[in-house]
Amino acid sequence: MEILRTIDSVRQWVRAQRAQGRPIHFVPTMGYFHEGHLSLMRRARDDGGAVIVSIFVNPLQFGPNEDLERYPRDFERDRQMAQPVGVDAIFAPEAAEMYPAGYQTEVRVQTLSQPLCGRSRPGHFEGVATVVLKLFHIVTPDRAYFGMKDYQQLRVIQQMVRDLNLPIEVVPCPIVREADGLAMSSRNVYLSPDERAAATVLYRSLQWAQAQYAAGERDAHRLREGVYAQIAAEPLARIDYVEVVDAETLQPIERLERPALVALAVFFGRARLIDNCLLPAPAE
Ligand code: AMP
Repeated sequence: MEILRTIDSVRQWVRAQRAQGRPIHFVPTMGYFHEGHLSLMRRARDDGGAVIVSIFVNPLQFGPNEDLERYPRDFERDRQMAQPVGVDAIFAPEAAEMYPAGYQTEVRVQTLSQPLCGRSRPGHFEGVATVVLKLFHIVTPDRAYFGMKDYQQLRVIQQMVRDLNLPIEVVPCPIVREADGLAMSSRNVYLSPDERAAATVLYRSLQWAQAQYAAGERDAHRLREGVYAQIAAEPLARIDYVEVVDAETLQPIERLERPALVALAVFFGRARLIDNCLLPAPAE
Protein backbone atom coordinates (compact mmCIF):
# COMPACT_ATOMS: atom_id res chain seq x y z
CA MET A 1 0.00 0.00 0.00
CA GLU A 2 1.45 3.33 -1.09
CA ILE A 3 1.33 6.42 1.09
CA LEU A 4 1.03 9.54 -1.06
CA ARG A 5 1.42 13.03 0.35
CA THR A 6 1.50 15.23 -2.75
CA ILE A 7 -0.86 15.88 -5.64
CA ASP A 8 1.90 15.11 -8.13
CA SER A 9 2.55 11.71 -6.58
CA VAL A 10 -1.17 10.86 -6.81
CA ARG A 11 -1.22 11.82 -10.50
CA GLN A 12 1.79 9.59 -11.17
CA TRP A 13 0.26 6.69 -9.25
CA VAL A 14 -3.04 7.04 -11.12
CA ARG A 15 -1.22 7.08 -14.48
CA ALA A 16 0.63 3.89 -13.55
CA GLN A 17 -2.63 2.13 -12.53
CA ARG A 18 -4.39 3.16 -15.74
CA ALA A 19 -1.40 1.98 -17.78
CA GLN A 20 -2.10 -1.47 -16.27
CA GLY A 21 -5.72 -1.19 -17.31
CA ARG A 22 -7.08 -0.78 -13.78
CA PRO A 23 -10.06 1.52 -13.16
CA ILE A 24 -9.62 3.93 -10.24
CA HIS A 25 -12.00 3.47 -7.30
CA PHE A 26 -11.89 6.31 -4.79
CA VAL A 27 -13.02 6.58 -1.15
CA PRO A 28 -12.74 10.12 0.28
CA THR A 29 -12.60 10.30 4.10
CA MET A 30 -11.49 12.40 7.04
CA GLY A 31 -9.77 9.39 8.61
CA TYR A 32 -10.04 7.86 12.09
CA PHE A 33 -11.43 4.76 10.45
CA HIS A 34 -14.27 2.56 11.64
CA GLU A 35 -16.25 -0.24 9.98
CA GLY A 36 -18.29 2.32 8.00
CA HIS A 37 -15.15 3.53 6.23
CA LEU A 38 -13.89 -0.04 5.78
CA SER A 39 -17.21 -1.09 4.19
CA LEU A 40 -16.71 1.56 1.49
CA MET A 41 -13.14 0.36 0.89
CA ARG A 42 -14.25 -3.29 0.62
CA ARG A 43 -16.98 -2.35 -1.83
CA ALA A 44 -14.45 -0.36 -3.91
CA ARG A 45 -12.10 -3.35 -3.89
CA ASP A 46 -14.83 -5.90 -4.69
CA ASP A 47 -15.92 -3.76 -7.64
CA GLY A 48 -12.50 -4.55 -9.09
CA GLY A 49 -10.49 -1.35 -9.24
CA ALA A 50 -7.28 0.09 -7.89
CA VAL A 51 -8.49 1.48 -4.55
CA ILE A 52 -7.29 4.87 -3.36
CA VAL A 53 -8.50 6.33 -0.06
CA SER A 54 -7.98 9.97 0.87
CA ILE A 55 -7.56 11.09 4.48
CA PHE A 56 -7.99 14.82 4.84
CA VAL A 57 -9.67 16.74 7.66
CA ASN A 58 -10.89 19.54 5.43
CA PRO A 59 -10.73 22.90 7.26
CA LEU A 60 -13.09 24.47 4.70
CA GLN A 61 -16.07 22.38 5.85
CA PHE A 62 -15.78 23.24 9.56
CA GLY A 63 -17.44 26.30 11.06
CA PRO A 64 -15.55 28.64 13.41
CA ASN A 65 -17.02 27.04 16.57
CA GLU A 66 -16.87 23.45 15.37
CA ASP A 67 -14.51 20.57 16.16
CA LEU A 68 -11.75 21.00 13.53
CA GLU A 69 -8.98 21.14 16.15
CA ARG A 70 -10.12 18.19 18.23
CA TYR A 71 -11.39 15.99 15.36
CA PRO A 72 -9.75 12.59 16.05
CA ARG A 73 -6.68 11.81 13.94
CA ASP A 74 -4.41 8.74 14.00
CA PHE A 75 -2.67 8.06 10.72
CA GLU A 76 -0.80 4.97 11.88
CA ARG A 77 -4.01 3.35 13.12
CA ASP A 78 -5.76 4.19 9.83
CA ARG A 79 -2.87 2.76 7.82
CA GLN A 80 -3.03 -0.51 9.76
CA MET A 81 -6.79 -0.79 9.28
CA ALA A 82 -6.75 -0.03 5.54
CA GLN A 83 -3.87 -2.37 4.64
CA PRO A 84 -5.64 -5.74 5.23
CA VAL A 85 -8.71 -4.53 3.33
CA GLY A 86 -6.60 -4.39 0.17
CA VAL A 87 -6.41 -0.62 -0.27
CA ASP A 88 -3.73 0.17 -2.87
CA ALA A 89 -2.94 3.75 -1.89
CA ILE A 90 -3.69 6.35 0.77
CA PHE A 91 -3.58 10.02 -0.17
CA ALA A 92 -3.02 12.06 2.99
CA PRO A 93 -2.06 15.62 2.09
CA GLU A 94 -1.22 18.50 4.41
CA ALA A 95 -3.70 21.39 4.37
CA ALA A 96 -1.16 23.56 2.53
CA GLU A 97 -1.00 21.03 -0.30
CA MET A 98 -4.77 21.34 -0.84
CA TYR A 99 -5.11 25.05 -0.03
CA PRO A 100 -1.84 26.86 -0.74
CA ALA A 101 -1.56 30.51 0.30
CA GLY A 102 -3.83 32.67 -1.83
CA TYR A 103 -6.43 29.95 -2.42
CA GLN A 104 -9.79 31.52 -3.46
CA THR A 105 -12.21 29.22 -5.29
CA GLU A 106 -15.34 27.63 -3.81
CA VAL A 107 -18.01 25.38 -5.27
CA ARG A 108 -21.66 25.73 -4.26
CA VAL A 109 -24.50 23.34 -5.03
CA GLN A 110 -27.30 25.81 -4.44
CA THR A 111 -30.59 24.31 -3.28
CA LEU A 112 -29.48 20.94 -1.88
CA SER A 113 -26.93 22.60 0.41
CA GLN A 114 -29.48 24.72 2.24
CA PRO A 115 -31.84 22.55 4.35
CA LEU A 116 -31.01 20.12 7.21
CA CYS A 117 -27.29 20.28 8.10
CA GLY A 118 -26.83 23.22 5.73
CA ARG A 119 -29.04 25.32 7.98
CA SER A 120 -27.14 24.44 11.19
CA ARG A 121 -23.72 24.50 9.53
CA PRO A 122 -23.53 27.48 7.16
CA GLY A 123 -20.81 26.97 4.54
CA HIS A 124 -20.40 23.29 5.39
CA PHE A 125 -21.54 21.87 2.05
CA GLU A 126 -19.60 24.50 0.10
CA GLY A 127 -16.52 23.20 1.93
CA VAL A 128 -17.50 19.61 1.13
CA ALA A 129 -18.28 20.24 -2.55
CA THR A 130 -15.06 22.22 -2.98
CA VAL A 131 -12.76 19.62 -1.47
CA VAL A 132 -14.49 16.72 -3.22
CA LEU A 133 -14.28 18.46 -6.60
CA LYS A 134 -10.57 19.13 -5.98
CA LEU A 135 -10.03 15.50 -4.97
CA PHE A 136 -11.96 14.33 -8.04
CA HIS A 137 -9.67 16.43 -10.27
CA ILE A 138 -6.57 15.08 -8.53
CA VAL A 139 -7.59 11.41 -8.41
CA THR A 140 -9.77 11.32 -11.60
CA PRO A 141 -11.67 8.27 -10.29
CA ASP A 142 -13.95 6.11 -12.39
CA ARG A 143 -16.06 5.44 -9.29
CA ALA A 144 -16.34 7.21 -5.95
CA TYR A 145 -17.92 5.67 -2.84
CA PHE A 146 -19.99 7.62 -0.30
CA GLY A 147 -21.86 6.45 2.79
CA MET A 148 -25.59 7.08 3.13
CA LYS A 149 -24.98 8.10 6.74
CA ASP A 150 -24.08 11.51 5.31
CA TYR A 151 -27.13 11.44 3.07
CA GLN A 152 -27.25 15.17 2.29
CA GLN A 153 -23.55 15.10 1.41
CA LEU A 154 -24.24 12.21 -0.97
CA ARG A 155 -27.05 14.17 -2.66
CA VAL A 156 -24.87 17.30 -2.94
CA ILE A 157 -22.06 15.28 -4.59
CA GLN A 158 -24.47 13.48 -6.94
CA GLN A 159 -25.87 16.84 -8.03
CA MET A 160 -22.41 18.36 -8.51
CA VAL A 161 -21.30 15.39 -10.62
CA ARG A 162 -24.39 15.78 -12.78
CA ASP A 163 -24.25 19.58 -13.06
CA LEU A 164 -20.54 19.69 -13.90
CA ASN A 165 -20.60 16.63 -16.22
CA LEU A 166 -17.97 14.73 -14.26
CA PRO A 167 -17.33 11.26 -15.77
CA ILE A 168 -17.57 9.62 -12.35
CA GLU A 169 -20.00 7.04 -11.04
CA VAL A 170 -21.07 7.92 -7.51
CA VAL A 171 -21.77 4.73 -5.55
CA PRO A 172 -23.99 5.12 -2.43
CA CYS A 173 -23.20 2.64 0.37
CA PRO A 174 -25.47 1.56 3.27
CA ILE A 175 -25.08 2.84 6.83
CA VAL A 176 -22.94 0.60 9.06
CA ARG A 177 -24.11 0.46 12.68
CA GLU A 178 -22.85 -0.76 16.04
CA ALA A 179 -24.58 -3.86 17.47
CA ASP A 180 -27.03 -1.63 19.39
CA GLY A 181 -27.89 0.40 16.28
CA LEU A 182 -25.80 3.53 16.78
CA ALA A 183 -24.48 4.64 13.38
CA MET A 184 -20.70 4.37 13.31
CA SER A 185 -18.96 7.73 13.29
CA SER A 186 -15.49 9.02 14.06
CA ARG A 187 -17.24 11.48 16.37
CA ASN A 188 -18.60 8.67 18.61
CA VAL A 189 -15.28 8.84 20.51
CA TYR A 190 -16.48 12.16 21.96
CA LEU A 191 -19.29 10.38 23.85
CA SER A 192 -19.05 9.65 27.58
CA PRO A 193 -20.36 6.19 28.60
CA ASP A 194 -23.70 7.73 29.62
CA GLU A 195 -23.99 9.69 26.38
CA ARG A 196 -23.02 6.60 24.40
CA ALA A 197 -25.87 4.66 26.03
CA ALA A 198 -28.33 7.53 25.55
CA ALA A 199 -27.44 7.91 21.85
CA THR A 200 -29.12 4.58 21.03
CA VAL A 201 -32.39 6.52 21.11
CA LEU A 202 -31.58 7.83 17.62
CA TYR A 203 -31.79 4.50 15.84
CA ARG A 204 -34.71 3.36 18.00
CA SER A 205 -36.67 6.43 16.95
CA LEU A 206 -35.82 5.84 13.28
CA GLN A 207 -36.91 2.23 13.58
CA TRP A 208 -40.15 3.42 15.12
CA ALA A 209 -40.67 5.70 12.08
CA GLN A 210 -40.00 2.79 9.72
CA ALA A 211 -42.49 0.61 11.60
CA GLN A 212 -45.15 3.34 11.53
CA TYR A 213 -44.56 3.78 7.82
CA ALA A 214 -44.80 0.03 7.21
CA ALA A 215 -48.08 0.03 9.13
CA GLY A 216 -49.49 2.62 6.72
CA GLU A 217 -48.70 5.99 8.29
CA ARG A 218 -48.38 8.55 5.48
CA ASP A 219 -48.53 11.81 7.44
CA ALA A 220 -45.02 13.31 7.55
CA HIS A 221 -45.90 15.67 10.41
CA ARG A 222 -47.03 12.84 12.70
CA LEU A 223 -43.91 10.81 11.90
CA ARG A 224 -41.67 13.77 12.64
CA GLU A 225 -43.47 14.56 15.90
CA GLY A 226 -43.17 10.93 17.03
CA VAL A 227 -39.44 10.76 16.35
CA TYR A 228 -38.91 14.18 17.92
CA ALA A 229 -40.81 13.26 21.10
CA GLN A 230 -38.84 10.05 21.63
CA ILE A 231 -35.51 11.85 21.35
CA ALA A 232 -36.68 14.84 23.41
CA ALA A 233 -37.58 12.40 26.22
CA GLU A 234 -33.87 11.50 26.52
CA PRO A 235 -32.37 13.98 29.03
CA LEU A 236 -28.84 13.85 27.53
CA ALA A 237 -30.08 14.62 24.01
CA ARG A 238 -30.24 18.15 22.59
CA ILE A 239 -32.01 18.16 19.24
CA ASP A 240 -30.59 20.20 16.38
CA TYR A 241 -33.23 19.05 13.89
CA VAL A 242 -35.57 16.19 13.08
CA GLU A 243 -37.13 16.36 9.62
CA VAL A 244 -39.07 14.29 7.13
CA VAL A 245 -38.11 15.35 3.60
CA ASP A 246 -38.31 14.26 -0.01
CA ALA A 247 -35.38 11.86 -0.49
CA GLU A 248 -34.35 13.47 -3.76
CA THR A 249 -34.87 17.20 -3.21
CA LEU A 250 -34.50 17.22 0.63
CA GLN A 251 -37.47 19.63 0.78
CA PRO A 252 -40.08 19.19 3.53
CA ILE A 253 -43.13 17.11 2.63
CA GLU A 254 -46.58 16.65 4.09
CA ARG A 255 -47.59 13.27 2.69
CA LEU A 256 -45.31 10.29 2.06
CA GLU A 257 -46.08 9.68 -1.58
CA ARG A 258 -42.56 9.48 -2.97
CA PRO A 259 -39.33 8.12 -1.43
CA ALA A 260 -38.77 10.08 1.78
CA LEU A 261 -35.97 10.53 4.27
CA VAL A 262 -36.22 10.87 8.04
CA ALA A 263 -33.11 12.86 8.92
CA LEU A 264 -31.86 14.05 12.28
CA ALA A 265 -28.98 15.78 14.01
CA VAL A 266 -28.72 15.61 17.79
CA PHE A 267 -26.09 16.75 20.29
CA PHE A 268 -24.98 14.48 23.13
CA GLY A 269 -22.55 16.57 25.15
CA ARG A 270 -20.12 18.00 22.62
CA ALA A 271 -20.77 15.37 19.99
CA ARG A 272 -23.18 16.31 17.19
CA LEU A 273 -24.45 13.04 15.72
CA ILE A 274 -26.44 12.62 12.50
CA ASP A 275 -28.50 9.68 11.34
CA ASN A 276 -31.28 8.98 8.88
CA CYS A 277 -33.46 6.34 7.31
CA LEU A 278 -35.01 6.08 3.87
CA LEU A 279 -38.70 5.35 3.53
CA PRO A 280 -39.15 3.85 0.06
CA ALA A 281 -42.03 4.88 -2.18
CA PRO A 282 -45.33 3.30 -1.11
CA ALA A 283 -46.35 0.36 -3.28
CA GLU A 284 -48.86 1.45 -5.95
P1 AMP B 1 -15.95 10.81 7.14
O1 AMP B 1 -14.56 10.33 7.35
O2 AMP B 1 -16.78 10.82 8.37
O3 AMP B 1 -16.00 12.10 6.35
O4 AMP B 1 -16.65 9.74 6.20
C1 AMP B 1 -16.06 9.31 5.00
C2 AMP B 1 -17.05 8.47 4.24
O5 AMP B 1 -17.47 7.37 5.03
C3 AMP B 1 -18.33 9.25 3.87
O6 AMP B 1 -18.76 8.87 2.58
C4 AMP B 1 -19.29 8.79 4.92
O7 AMP B 1 -20.63 8.86 4.52
C5 AMP B 1 -18.86 7.34 5.10
N1 AMP B 1 -19.33 6.86 6.40
C6 AMP B 1 -19.11 7.41 7.61
N2 AMP B 1 -19.73 6.72 8.58
C7 AMP B 1 -20.40 5.71 7.96
C8 AMP B 1 -21.24 4.64 8.39
N3 AMP B 1 -21.55 4.47 9.68
N4 AMP B 1 -21.74 3.80 7.46
C9 AMP B 1 -21.44 3.97 6.15
N5 AMP B 1 -20.66 4.94 5.68
C10 AMP B 1 -20.14 5.80 6.56
